[in-house]
This record gives sequence, C-alpha cells and structure tokens, in this order.
Amino acid sequence: MNAEVDVELREQIRKLCARYPSEYWQKCDRARVYPEKFVQELTDAGYLACLIPEQYGGAGLGIREAAVILEEIHRSGGNAAACHAQMYTMGTLLRHGSPEQKERWLTGIASGALRLQAFAVTEPDAGSDTASISTFAERKGDRYIVNGKKIFISRMQHSDLMVLLARTTPRADVEKRTQGLSVFVVDLRDAGDSVHVQPVDTMINHETNAVFFDDLEVPAENRIGEEGNGFSYILGGMNAERILLASESIGDASFFIDRCKRYANERVIFDRPIGQNQGIQFPIAGAYIRAQGAIAVRDRAVALYDAGEPCGAEANMSKFLASEVAWEAANVAMDTFGGYGMAEEFGIERKFREARLYLVAPVANNLVLSYVGQHVLGLPRSF
Ligand SMILES: Cc1cc2nc3c(=O)[nH]c(=O)nc-3n(C[C@H](O)[C@H](O)[C@H](O)COP(=O)(O)OP(=O)(O)OC[C@H]3O[C@@H](n4cnc5c(N)ncnc54)[C@H](O)[C@@H]3O)c2cc1C
Repeated sequence: MNAEVDVELREQIRKLCARYPSEYWQKCDRARVYPEKFVQELTDAGYLACLIPEQYGGAGLGIREAAVILEEIHRSGGNAAACHAQMYTMGTLLRHGSPEQKERWLTGIASGALRLQAFAVTEPDAGSDTASISTFAERKGDRYIVNGKKIFISRMQHSDLMVLLARTTPRADVEKRTQGLSVFVVDLRDAGDSVHVQPVDTMINHETNAVFFDDLEVPAENRIGEEGNGFSYILGGMNAERILLASESIGDASFFIDRCKRYANERVIFDRPIGQNQGIQFPIAGAYIRAQGAIAVRDRAVALYDAGEPCGAEANMSKFLASEVAWEAANVAMDTFGGYGMAEEFGIERKFREARLYLVAPVANNLVLSYVGQHVLGLPRSF
C-alpha cells in the first residue's frame, strides 16, 4: 500500500468516526452499553474484514491497513476494543483451519453475519502462564466435552463464535507443558446452559466475563488444526494482536496530545496560554517525542509482519512502547486540563481509564520485558 492510499484510508476512517463524537462514547460509557451502532457501521463498511482474503469476501489487506483503521478510531476519541477482535481472531482459522472450516465460517465473518470476537485463553489460576490452563476438552467419539472456567473473556455477549484454547491431554502425560493444548471454534448459539457467562464489571465500558463450561459439547470437526498443537497456533496470532493493540495505544496517545495542544493554546491563566509554561509544554512535547518512537517501532513490526518475516521482538516492543506512551500522555492530559480533566464532558477521564488497560492486556508489560530479556538479549529466563 503506498502512502497516498494510507492517507485516503485515514481520511475515510476519520469521516466515519466524526459521526461518533465524544458525546456518543460518553453516553455508552455512562450507561455501560455496547457501542452497537458504531460497530455495525464499521462492519457494514467492511473495515473489520480487512484482513480476510478476497475469496471469502474480505478486503484482503495487510496488517498495515488494519493498524491504520484502529489507530484512527482511537485518535478520534473512540474505542475499538468493542470489536477489534473481529479483525484478527479469525487469523487462527485462516492460518490453521481446513478448507471446509474456512468455507463454513470465513464468509459469514467477512460479511458480519457471524461475529467471531470472543477469544478464550485466560484462566483465573493460570493468568499470564497460559501453558498452565486447566480447562479440559475430553474426546468422546465425534465430539469433545469441555469443562473448566475462563476469566476476562471479552465480547462473549456480542459474539456468535468463540475461539477456545483448552487442554486435550493431561499435563502429566506430555513432555513439554506447551504440548497437549488444542484450539476449537465454539458456536455460542448452540451452547445453551453448558456455557455460563458472568459479567465482570471493570473501570471501563468493556464487556468482559467469567465463563464456566459445564459439559459443553463441541463437534470434533470444530477443532482447528492438529490436536495438541493449539499453543503454537495461539502464539502465532499474538504478533498481529500486539501490533494492532499497539496501534490503538498510539491512537490514544495522539488523542491526548491533540487535545493537550489545543487546550494548552486556548486556556489563558495569569494572562498567558498555559502552554507557554514549560511545566505544561515540555511534558506534552516529551510525550509527542516518545509517541514518534513507538510509531517507528510499530511501523517496523508492521513491515516485517506484512513481508512474512519474524517480528516477535518488534511486535512485543511496539506494544510495550505504545501502551507506556499512551499512559504517559493520559497523565500529561490530566495535568494539562487541570480540574477539567476529571469532568466527564471533556472525555479525558474516560480515555485515561481506557488507556490504562493496555499496560496489562493482552499481555502484561512485565511479560514483554521478560520476553525481550530472554529472547532478544540472551539473558537467563527470569522465572
Ligand atoms: C478488560 C480485560 C479484557 C480482557 N480480555 C481478554 C480476552 O478477551 N481473552 C482472554 O483470554 N484474556 C483477556 N484478558 C486477560 C488478560 O490477557 C490478562 O489479564 C493478562 O494476560 C494478565 O493476566 P492476569 O490478569 O492473570 O495477571 P497475572 O498473570 O496474575 O499477573 C499479575 C501481575 O504480575 C506480573 N507477573 C506475573 N508473572 C510475572 C513474571 N514471571 N515476571 C514478572 N512479572 C510477572 C504481571 O506482569 C502483572 O503485573 C483481559 C483482561 C482485561 C483486564
């Protein structure tokens, strides 16, 4: 994609987002409701299907375009976390699914008729240690029977399908703890009482849940790829997720910096714009400089990803840098806006709460540090 197309895409997303101003997001936030109208318009315009190949009805674009879309949504003051997983959760199916499975699901996902935006990995007793999950899928003839529990599973109530990681061979019977895990597509519409969803209220307007599986039957034909290899399939999708969520954080940082620039120029106290004071101006400039660094690393991760090159280090580092600078910019905005940073109508406090999430999800930044320490710098494993 050349730079001109990039500009055009940004312009299109900005236009769409202009129809969903701060008041829209404030209302959703206050009422704790799903931003259905926004998600539907984004779906109808085809943006959530940008990574799905054209043969299945998607746009067949790269991670670069997906990153631009999410970045611009966040820069506008919106929040793509309500639907971003519709873009990339299908990646596991696309990379490892059989031709029949792709035919069966991808076209519906591309059109938006099927929502696949739930992704169930995290468990209360395993946390960041994914290989320790204990939700078990036991093979019985042509189906698996799933029992166990998950935590923080987002968008379950707005999904038709869910990608599930579960153990299929007991931990004691595998050589390496990453073995014996498998991935399934679960059709939530057929699940009935065997899936119990308990919402988890958080500091942001984000639908996330504790999920309990009680003898859930999943047809064996819904298993993606080989039994026992699920951990590597999930890992393979993580680079895309890291890059895309880094892009949302970059959008958040840009949102705060844009708002700070404007406000610091307009707000006059002691007969001068507050932005004339170094105590206000320099933190904004500092956040801007660090945001440029995060963008550069994200762009390098994007280029490697779209070229099919290994990009684990860059994807992780861009997620780390972008989430840190978004949080820095959020705090700078709180200082710049003074008391008004706390007032709901300015939208700063909402974004402040939202920006905090990405320091811990989808992977906690300490785990990124340990990845870089061990795999990039060759230091001993720290845990
Ligand atoms: C709003 C929200 C939405 C989410 N959505 C989803 C979803 O849709 N699907 C899904 O599967 N998961 C989801 N998650 C889960 C998220 O991925 C986890 O919260 C995250 O991976 C961290 O796991 P944990 O919360 O159990 O923290 P823990 O693993 O308990 O970690 C707690 C703290 O200890 C630190 N820590 C742990 N181990 C080490 C170590 N070895 N070295 C140094 N520090 C360490 C961590 O960095 C962290 O700061 C979501 C979480 C939230 C909050």
